[in-house]
Amino acid sequence: MVQSAKPGLRLRVTALAETVVRKGHPWIFAGSVREENRPGGAGELAVIYDRNDKFLAVGLYDPDSPIRVRILHAGKPTPINAAWWKTRLEQVLELREGIFDNQTTGYRCINGENDGWPGLVLDRYDTTLVIKIYSAIWFPRLTEILELINERIPNERIILRLSRNIQEAAAGKFSDGQTLRGTPPTGPVIFLENGLKFEADVLQGQKTGFFLDQRENRKQVESLSSGRKVLNIFSFSGGFSVYAARGGAAEVASLDISEHALESAKRNFALNPKLRCPHELIQANAFDWLQKKVEKKYDLIILDPPSLAKRESEREEALRAYGKLIGGALERLQSGGVLVAASCSAHVSADEFFEMALATAKQSGRKCEEIMRTGHAPDHPATYKEGQYLKAIYLQF
Ligand code: SAH
Repeated sequence: MVQSAKPGLRLRVTALAETVVRKGHPWIFAGSVREENRPGGAGELAVIYDRNDKFLAVGLYDPDSPIRVRILHAGKPTPINAAWWKTRLEQVLELREGIFDNQTTGYRCINGENDGWPGLVLDRYDTTLVIKIYSAIWFPRLTEILELINERIPNERIILRLSRNIQEAAAGKFSDGQTLRGTPPTGPVIFLENGLKFEADVLQGQKTGFFLDQRENRKQVESLSSGRKVLNIFSFSGGFSVYAARGGAAEVASLDISEHALESAKRNFALNPKLRCPHELIQANAFDWLQKKVEKKYDLIILDPPSLAKRESEREEALRAYGKLIGGALERLQSGGVLVAASCSAHVSADEFFEMALATAKQSGRKCEEIMRTGHAPDHPATYKEGQYLKAIYLQF
Protein backbone atom coordinates (compact mmCIF):
# COMPACT_ATOMS: atom_id res chain seq x y z
CA MET A 1 0.00 0.00 0.00
CA VAL A 2 1.11 3.57 -0.62
CA GLN A 3 1.34 5.18 2.80
CA SER A 4 1.34 8.93 2.90
CA ALA A 5 0.14 11.85 4.93
CA LYS A 6 -0.87 13.59 1.72
CA PRO A 7 -4.55 14.18 1.03
CA GLY A 8 -6.15 11.43 -1.05
CA LEU A 9 -5.84 11.80 -4.79
CA ARG A 10 -9.03 13.23 -6.26
CA LEU A 11 -9.83 13.65 -9.93
CA ARG A 12 -12.54 15.12 -12.10
CA VAL A 13 -12.91 14.00 -15.68
CA THR A 14 -14.70 15.09 -18.83
CA ALA A 15 -18.43 14.48 -19.26
CA LEU A 16 -17.71 11.86 -21.91
CA ALA A 17 -15.27 10.02 -19.64
CA GLU A 18 -17.87 10.09 -16.86
CA THR A 19 -20.40 8.38 -19.10
CA VAL A 20 -17.90 5.83 -20.32
CA VAL A 21 -16.78 4.93 -16.79
CA ARG A 22 -20.37 4.74 -15.59
CA LYS A 23 -21.00 2.18 -18.32
CA GLY A 24 -18.16 0.07 -16.96
CA HIS A 25 -15.19 0.97 -19.13
CA PRO A 26 -11.98 0.40 -17.15
CA TRP A 27 -9.77 3.23 -18.41
CA ILE A 28 -9.48 6.99 -17.97
CA PHE A 29 -7.08 8.52 -20.46
CA ALA A 30 -4.78 11.41 -19.51
CA GLY A 31 -6.62 13.69 -21.94
CA SER A 32 -9.92 13.11 -20.11
CA VAL A 33 -8.66 14.34 -16.73
CA ARG A 34 -10.01 17.86 -16.10
CA GLU A 35 -8.86 18.39 -12.54
CA GLU A 36 -6.49 16.77 -10.12
CA ASN A 37 -5.97 17.96 -6.51
CA ARG A 38 -2.25 17.10 -6.64
CA PRO A 39 0.23 15.07 -8.70
CA GLY A 40 -0.17 11.32 -8.11
CA GLY A 41 2.35 8.49 -7.90
CA ALA A 42 2.27 5.16 -9.74
CA GLY A 43 -0.24 2.82 -8.12
CA GLU A 44 -1.88 5.39 -5.84
CA LEU A 45 -5.59 5.07 -5.34
CA ALA A 46 -7.36 7.83 -7.26
CA VAL A 47 -10.97 8.69 -6.55
CA ILE A 48 -12.99 10.10 -9.42
CA TYR A 49 -15.83 12.51 -8.63
CA ASP A 50 -18.55 13.42 -11.08
CA ARG A 51 -19.91 16.86 -12.02
CA ASN A 52 -22.14 16.88 -8.92
CA ASP A 53 -19.23 16.04 -6.65
CA LYS A 54 -20.54 12.54 -6.15
CA PHE A 55 -18.28 9.49 -6.05
CA LEU A 56 -18.01 7.97 -9.51
CA ALA A 57 -15.21 5.43 -9.32
CA VAL A 58 -11.90 4.52 -7.78
CA GLY A 59 -8.85 3.26 -9.60
CA LEU A 60 -5.08 3.00 -9.71
CA TYR A 61 -3.19 6.05 -10.92
CA ASP A 62 -0.38 5.88 -13.46
CA PRO A 63 1.48 9.16 -14.10
CA ASP A 64 3.60 7.60 -16.87
CA SER A 65 0.93 6.03 -19.03
CA PRO A 66 -1.62 7.56 -21.40
CA ILE A 67 -4.09 5.40 -19.46
CA ARG A 68 -3.95 7.67 -16.40
CA VAL A 69 -6.34 5.69 -14.20
CA ARG A 70 -7.27 2.03 -14.38
CA ILE A 71 -10.63 1.60 -12.69
CA LEU A 72 -11.03 -0.92 -9.89
CA HIS A 73 -14.57 -0.11 -8.92
CA ALA A 74 -17.37 2.18 -10.10
CA GLY A 75 -20.74 2.85 -8.49
CA LYS A 76 -21.19 3.19 -4.74
CA PRO A 77 -18.23 4.37 -2.64
CA THR A 78 -16.30 1.47 -1.18
CA PRO A 79 -13.03 1.21 0.76
CA ILE A 80 -10.28 -0.57 -1.17
CA ASN A 81 -8.70 -2.56 1.65
CA ALA A 82 -7.35 -6.06 2.27
CA ALA A 83 -10.87 -7.52 2.53
CA TRP A 84 -11.83 -5.90 -0.76
CA TRP A 85 -8.84 -7.44 -2.57
CA LYS A 86 -9.60 -10.81 -1.06
CA THR A 87 -13.18 -10.69 -2.33
CA ARG A 88 -11.99 -9.63 -5.75
CA LEU A 89 -9.75 -12.68 -5.95
CA GLU A 90 -12.60 -14.93 -4.79
CA GLN A 91 -14.77 -13.53 -7.59
CA VAL A 92 -12.37 -14.54 -10.36
CA LEU A 93 -11.84 -17.98 -8.90
CA GLU A 94 -15.57 -18.52 -8.55
CA LEU A 95 -16.00 -17.63 -12.22
CA ARG A 96 -13.66 -20.47 -13.18
CA GLU A 97 -15.00 -23.07 -10.79
CA GLY A 98 -16.00 -26.26 -12.53
CA ILE A 99 -14.75 -25.18 -15.97
CA PHE A 100 -11.73 -27.47 -15.93
CA ASP A 101 -11.17 -30.96 -14.61
CA ASN A 102 -7.81 -32.45 -13.61
CA GLN A 103 -6.99 -33.08 -17.27
CA THR A 104 -6.54 -29.35 -17.78
CA THR A 105 -4.05 -27.80 -15.38
CA GLY A 106 -3.10 -24.81 -17.55
CA TYR A 107 -5.54 -21.92 -17.63
CA ARG A 108 -5.97 -18.25 -16.90
CA CYS A 109 -7.09 -17.31 -13.39
CA ILE A 110 -7.10 -13.53 -13.83
CA ASN A 111 -7.65 -11.84 -17.18
CA GLY A 112 -6.73 -8.23 -16.46
CA GLU A 113 -9.38 -5.52 -16.86
CA ASN A 114 -11.94 -8.13 -17.92
CA ASP A 115 -11.78 -9.61 -14.43
CA GLY A 116 -11.48 -6.33 -12.55
CA TRP A 117 -7.69 -6.57 -12.20
CA PRO A 118 -6.55 -3.91 -14.67
CA GLY A 119 -3.16 -4.62 -16.24
CA LEU A 120 -2.64 -7.88 -14.36
CA VAL A 121 -2.80 -11.44 -15.61
CA LEU A 122 -2.46 -14.63 -13.58
CA ASP A 123 -1.94 -17.94 -15.34
CA ARG A 124 -1.65 -21.36 -13.81
CA TYR A 125 0.58 -24.04 -15.28
CA ASP A 126 0.05 -27.00 -12.98
CA THR A 127 1.91 -26.05 -9.77
CA THR A 128 3.57 -22.95 -11.27
CA LEU A 129 1.73 -19.65 -11.16
CA VAL A 130 2.74 -16.77 -13.42
CA ILE A 131 1.78 -13.18 -12.67
CA LYS A 132 2.23 -10.90 -15.64
CA ILE A 133 1.88 -7.20 -15.15
CA TYR A 134 1.40 -4.62 -17.87
CA SER A 135 1.41 -1.46 -15.76
CA ALA A 136 3.64 0.02 -13.06
CA ILE A 137 0.53 0.57 -10.90
CA TRP A 138 1.05 -2.89 -9.45
CA PHE A 139 4.60 -2.47 -8.14
CA PRO A 140 3.65 -0.84 -4.80
CA ARG A 141 1.15 -3.60 -3.96
CA LEU A 142 2.78 -6.61 -5.55
CA THR A 143 3.87 -8.12 -2.22
CA GLU A 144 0.36 -7.82 -0.82
CA ILE A 145 -1.20 -9.36 -3.93
CA LEU A 146 1.37 -12.12 -3.98
CA GLU A 147 0.51 -13.13 -0.42
CA LEU A 148 -3.17 -13.12 -1.23
CA ILE A 149 -2.70 -15.33 -4.29
CA ASN A 150 -0.35 -17.64 -2.45
CA GLU A 151 -2.85 -18.14 0.36
CA ARG A 152 -5.70 -18.93 -1.98
CA ILE A 153 -4.16 -20.92 -4.87
CA PRO A 154 -1.94 -23.88 -3.96
CA ASN A 155 1.37 -23.65 -5.80
CA GLU A 156 5.00 -24.66 -5.83
CA ARG A 157 6.28 -21.39 -7.20
CA ILE A 158 5.19 -17.98 -8.43
CA ILE A 159 6.96 -16.32 -11.36
CA LEU A 160 6.75 -12.65 -12.26
CA ARG A 161 6.64 -11.49 -15.87
CA LEU A 162 6.80 -7.83 -16.86
CA SER A 163 5.68 -6.31 -20.13
CA ARG A 164 8.50 -4.54 -21.92
CA ASN A 165 7.18 -1.01 -21.30
CA ILE A 166 7.53 -1.29 -17.51
CA GLN A 167 10.81 -3.17 -17.20
CA GLU A 168 12.79 0.03 -16.79
CA ALA A 169 10.49 1.33 -14.06
CA ALA A 170 10.90 -2.00 -12.24
CA ALA A 171 14.72 -1.84 -12.21
CA GLY A 172 16.16 -2.45 -8.75
CA LYS A 173 12.83 -3.76 -7.42
CA PHE A 174 11.54 -6.47 -9.72
CA SER A 175 12.70 -8.13 -12.91
CA ASP A 176 11.11 -10.04 -15.76
CA GLY A 177 11.27 -13.79 -15.08
CA GLN A 178 11.93 -13.32 -11.37
CA THR A 179 10.86 -16.16 -9.10
CA LEU A 180 8.78 -14.47 -6.42
CA ARG A 181 8.13 -17.62 -4.43
CA GLY A 182 9.60 -21.14 -4.41
CA THR A 183 12.58 -22.35 -6.39
CA PRO A 184 13.17 -21.16 -9.96
CA PRO A 185 12.22 -23.74 -12.59
CA THR A 186 15.20 -25.51 -14.20
CA GLY A 187 13.51 -25.57 -17.63
CA PRO A 188 10.06 -25.27 -19.16
CA VAL A 189 7.22 -26.31 -16.85
CA ILE A 190 4.87 -29.11 -17.92
CA PHE A 191 1.10 -28.94 -17.65
CA LEU A 192 -1.99 -30.66 -19.03
CA GLU A 193 -4.53 -29.35 -21.49
CA ASN A 194 -7.46 -31.67 -22.17
CA GLY A 195 -5.22 -34.58 -21.23
CA LEU A 196 -2.37 -33.56 -23.54
CA LYS A 197 0.99 -32.60 -22.10
CA PHE A 198 2.60 -29.31 -23.05
CA GLU A 199 5.60 -27.31 -21.95
CA ALA A 200 5.56 -23.61 -21.14
CA ASP A 201 8.64 -21.44 -20.99
CA VAL A 202 7.37 -19.33 -18.12
CA LEU A 203 10.60 -17.39 -17.71
CA GLN A 204 11.03 -16.04 -21.24
CA GLY A 205 8.25 -17.32 -23.47
CA GLN A 206 5.70 -15.12 -25.19
CA LYS A 207 2.76 -14.00 -23.04
CA THR A 208 3.24 -16.16 -19.92
CA GLY A 209 4.77 -19.08 -21.85
CA PHE A 210 1.85 -20.54 -23.79
CA PHE A 211 -1.20 -19.37 -25.75
CA LEU A 212 -3.81 -20.59 -23.30
CA ASP A 213 -6.42 -18.50 -25.11
CA GLN A 214 -6.58 -20.92 -28.07
CA ARG A 215 -7.52 -24.01 -26.03
CA GLU A 216 -11.09 -24.22 -27.32
CA ASN A 217 -10.04 -23.72 -30.94
CA ARG A 218 -7.41 -26.41 -30.53
CA LYS A 219 -10.13 -28.78 -29.34
CA GLN A 220 -12.25 -27.94 -32.38
CA VAL A 221 -9.28 -28.58 -34.65
CA GLU A 222 -8.83 -31.99 -33.02
CA SER A 223 -12.41 -32.88 -33.95
CA LEU A 224 -11.84 -31.84 -37.58
CA SER A 225 -8.51 -33.61 -38.11
CA SER A 226 -9.34 -37.26 -38.66
CA GLY A 227 -7.56 -38.60 -41.75
CA ARG A 228 -6.56 -35.11 -42.85
CA LYS A 229 -3.24 -33.62 -43.86
CA VAL A 230 -2.93 -30.68 -41.50
CA LEU A 231 -0.86 -27.50 -41.84
CA ASN A 232 -0.46 -25.31 -38.76
CA ILE A 233 0.81 -21.89 -39.86
CA PHE A 234 2.25 -19.66 -37.09
CA SER A 235 2.43 -22.81 -35.01
CA PHE A 236 4.45 -21.48 -32.06
CA SER A 237 5.00 -24.54 -29.83
CA GLY A 238 2.69 -26.74 -31.90
CA GLY A 239 -0.47 -26.56 -29.80
CA PHE A 240 -2.84 -27.03 -32.75
CA SER A 241 -0.52 -29.66 -34.25
CA VAL A 242 -0.54 -31.89 -31.16
CA TYR A 243 -4.34 -31.75 -30.98
CA ALA A 244 -4.60 -32.53 -34.72
CA ALA A 245 -2.37 -35.55 -34.18
CA ARG A 246 -4.60 -36.83 -31.39
CA GLY A 247 -7.60 -36.19 -33.61
CA GLY A 248 -6.24 -38.73 -36.08
CA ALA A 249 -4.58 -36.50 -38.66
CA ALA A 250 -2.78 -38.39 -41.44
CA GLU A 251 0.14 -35.99 -41.05
CA VAL A 252 0.83 -32.60 -39.49
CA ALA A 253 3.19 -29.79 -40.46
CA SER A 254 4.06 -26.95 -38.07
CA LEU A 255 5.27 -23.76 -39.71
CA ASP A 256 6.88 -20.92 -37.75
CA ILE A 257 9.60 -18.34 -38.34
CA SER A 258 11.20 -19.15 -35.00
CA GLU A 259 13.50 -22.14 -34.62
CA HIS A 260 13.00 -21.88 -30.87
CA ALA A 261 9.21 -22.29 -31.31
CA LEU A 262 9.64 -25.30 -33.61
CA GLU A 263 12.02 -26.99 -31.18
CA SER A 264 9.35 -26.56 -28.53
CA ALA A 265 6.74 -28.06 -30.91
CA LYS A 266 9.00 -31.07 -31.33
CA ARG A 267 9.31 -31.47 -27.58
CA ASN A 268 5.55 -31.17 -27.16
CA PHE A 269 5.08 -34.12 -29.52
CA ALA A 270 7.69 -36.05 -27.54
CA LEU A 271 5.77 -35.30 -24.34
CA ASN A 272 2.82 -37.22 -25.82
CA PRO A 273 4.46 -40.43 -27.03
CA LYS A 274 1.18 -42.15 -27.86
CA LEU A 275 0.73 -39.79 -30.82
CA ARG A 276 1.82 -41.70 -33.88
CA CYS A 277 1.26 -39.02 -36.47
CA PRO A 278 4.17 -37.88 -38.70
CA HIS A 279 5.14 -34.30 -37.76
CA GLU A 280 7.05 -32.04 -40.15
CA LEU A 281 8.70 -28.80 -39.05
CA ILE A 282 8.89 -25.94 -41.53
CA GLN A 283 10.93 -22.91 -40.53
CA ALA A 284 9.83 -20.05 -42.77
CA ASN A 285 8.36 -16.59 -42.95
CA ALA A 286 4.70 -17.45 -43.53
CA PHE A 287 4.09 -14.42 -45.75
CA ASP A 288 6.92 -15.42 -48.13
CA TRP A 289 6.21 -19.12 -47.92
CA LEU A 290 2.59 -18.64 -48.92
CA GLN A 291 3.68 -16.72 -52.03
CA LYS A 292 5.80 -19.61 -53.23
CA LYS A 293 4.76 -22.09 -55.90
CA VAL A 294 2.39 -24.63 -54.42
CA GLU A 295 4.15 -27.95 -53.95
CA LYS A 296 1.71 -29.72 -51.73
CA LYS A 297 -1.89 -29.35 -50.66
CA TYR A 298 -3.44 -29.85 -47.24
CA ASP A 299 -6.93 -30.76 -46.05
CA LEU A 300 -6.94 -28.59 -42.92
CA ILE A 301 -5.02 -25.36 -42.52
CA ILE A 302 -4.81 -23.29 -39.34
CA LEU A 303 -3.75 -19.67 -39.64
CA ASP A 304 -3.07 -18.04 -36.28
CA PRO A 305 -0.71 -15.09 -36.80
CA PRO A 306 0.55 -12.79 -34.06
CA SER A 307 -1.26 -9.48 -33.64
CA LEU A 308 -0.92 -7.64 -36.97
CA ALA A 309 -2.19 -4.28 -35.71
CA LYS A 310 -0.42 -3.01 -32.61
CA ARG A 311 -2.20 0.32 -32.94
CA GLU A 312 -5.35 1.70 -34.54
CA SER A 313 -3.37 3.28 -37.43
CA GLU A 314 -2.26 -0.21 -38.51
CA ARG A 315 -5.80 -1.56 -38.78
CA GLU A 316 -6.27 -1.24 -42.55
CA GLU A 317 -2.88 -2.72 -43.27
CA ALA A 318 -3.55 -5.60 -40.90
CA LEU A 319 -6.82 -6.38 -42.66
CA ARG A 320 -5.03 -6.49 -46.00
CA ALA A 321 -2.39 -8.77 -44.49
CA TYR A 322 -5.09 -11.13 -43.20
CA GLY A 323 -6.59 -11.19 -46.69
CA LYS A 324 -3.21 -12.03 -48.17
CA LEU A 325 -2.58 -14.82 -45.69
CA ILE A 326 -6.03 -16.33 -46.18
CA GLY A 327 -5.70 -16.06 -49.98
CA GLY A 328 -2.30 -17.77 -49.83
CA ALA A 329 -3.58 -20.51 -47.55
CA LEU A 330 -6.51 -21.20 -49.91
CA GLU A 331 -4.01 -21.90 -52.72
CA ARG A 332 -2.75 -24.75 -50.57
CA LEU A 333 -6.09 -26.06 -49.44
CA GLN A 334 -7.38 -29.23 -51.03
CA SER A 335 -10.93 -29.27 -52.33
CA GLY A 336 -13.18 -30.31 -49.42
CA GLY A 337 -10.63 -28.93 -47.00
CA VAL A 338 -11.15 -26.67 -43.99
CA LEU A 339 -9.50 -23.36 -43.22
CA VAL A 340 -9.37 -22.08 -39.64
CA ALA A 341 -8.40 -18.41 -39.66
CA ALA A 342 -7.84 -16.62 -36.34
CA SER A 343 -7.03 -13.03 -35.43
CA CYS A 344 -5.75 -11.74 -32.11
CA SER A 345 -5.56 -8.07 -33.15
CA ALA A 346 -7.73 -6.03 -30.78
CA HIS A 347 -7.78 -3.16 -33.29
CA VAL A 348 -9.41 -5.36 -35.92
CA SER A 349 -13.00 -6.10 -34.95
CA ALA A 350 -14.48 -9.58 -35.26
CA ASP A 351 -16.96 -8.36 -37.87
CA GLU A 352 -14.37 -6.81 -40.16
CA PHE A 353 -12.10 -9.82 -39.81
CA PHE A 354 -14.90 -12.25 -40.72
CA GLU A 355 -15.93 -9.99 -43.60
CA MET A 356 -12.38 -9.99 -44.96
CA ALA A 357 -12.12 -13.78 -44.62
CA LEU A 358 -15.43 -14.31 -46.44
CA ALA A 359 -14.55 -11.75 -49.16
CA THR A 360 -11.21 -13.48 -49.76
CA ALA A 361 -12.96 -16.85 -49.93
CA LYS A 362 -15.38 -15.44 -52.50
CA GLN A 363 -12.55 -14.00 -54.59
CA SER A 364 -10.99 -17.44 -54.82
CA GLY A 365 -14.03 -18.49 -56.88
CA ARG A 366 -14.36 -21.65 -54.82
CA LYS A 367 -17.55 -22.76 -53.17
CA CYS A 368 -17.31 -22.16 -49.48
CA GLU A 369 -19.42 -23.01 -46.47
CA GLU A 370 -19.03 -21.42 -43.08
CA ILE A 371 -18.76 -24.01 -40.32
CA MET A 372 -18.56 -21.68 -37.33
CA ARG A 373 -17.18 -18.57 -35.68
CA THR A 374 -15.59 -18.56 -32.26
CA GLY A 375 -14.52 -15.93 -29.75
CA HIS A 376 -13.12 -15.86 -26.27
CA ALA A 377 -12.48 -18.87 -24.05
CA PRO A 378 -14.36 -18.95 -20.71
CA ASP A 379 -11.17 -18.36 -18.71
CA HIS A 380 -10.42 -15.33 -20.94
CA PRO A 381 -13.59 -13.25 -20.51
CA ALA A 382 -13.79 -10.02 -22.52
CA THR A 383 -15.91 -7.36 -20.89
CA TYR A 384 -14.95 -4.21 -22.80
CA LYS A 385 -14.19 -3.37 -26.40
CA GLU A 386 -10.38 -3.31 -26.19
CA GLY A 387 -10.46 -6.59 -24.27
CA GLN A 388 -12.08 -8.38 -27.22
CA TYR A 389 -9.17 -9.45 -29.36
CA LEU A 390 -9.62 -13.09 -30.28
CA LYS A 391 -11.86 -14.39 -33.04
CA ALA A 392 -11.73 -17.27 -35.48
CA ILE A 393 -13.71 -18.45 -38.48
CA TYR A 394 -13.93 -22.01 -39.79
CA LEU A 395 -14.56 -22.32 -43.52
CA GLN A 396 -15.04 -25.45 -45.57
CA PHE A 397 -14.20 -25.39 -49.30
N1 SAH B 1 -1.02 -20.81 -32.78
C1 SAH B 1 -0.12 -20.70 -31.65
C2 SAH B 1 0.17 -19.27 -31.27
C3 SAH B 1 0.75 -18.41 -32.38
S1 SAH B 1 1.70 -17.10 -31.79
C4 SAH B 1 -0.65 -21.52 -30.48
O1 SAH B 1 -1.80 -21.99 -30.51
O2 SAH B 1 0.06 -21.68 -29.51
C5 SAH B 1 2.40 -16.46 -33.24
C6 SAH B 1 3.59 -17.23 -33.77
O3 SAH B 1 3.88 -16.67 -35.04
C7 SAH B 1 4.88 -17.13 -32.96
O4 SAH B 1 5.36 -18.41 -32.66
C8 SAH B 1 5.88 -16.42 -33.89
O5 SAH B 1 7.19 -16.96 -33.83
C9 SAH B 1 5.29 -16.71 -35.25
N2 SAH B 1 5.57 -15.75 -36.31
C10 SAH B 1 5.63 -14.39 -36.22
N3 SAH B 1 5.85 -13.86 -37.44
C11 SAH B 1 5.93 -14.90 -38.30
C12 SAH B 1 6.12 -14.99 -39.72
N4 SAH B 1 6.26 -13.90 -40.47
N5 SAH B 1 6.13 -16.21 -40.29
C13 SAH B 1 5.97 -17.32 -39.54
N6 SAH B 1 5.79 -17.30 -38.21
C14 SAH B 1 5.76 -16.10 -37.59
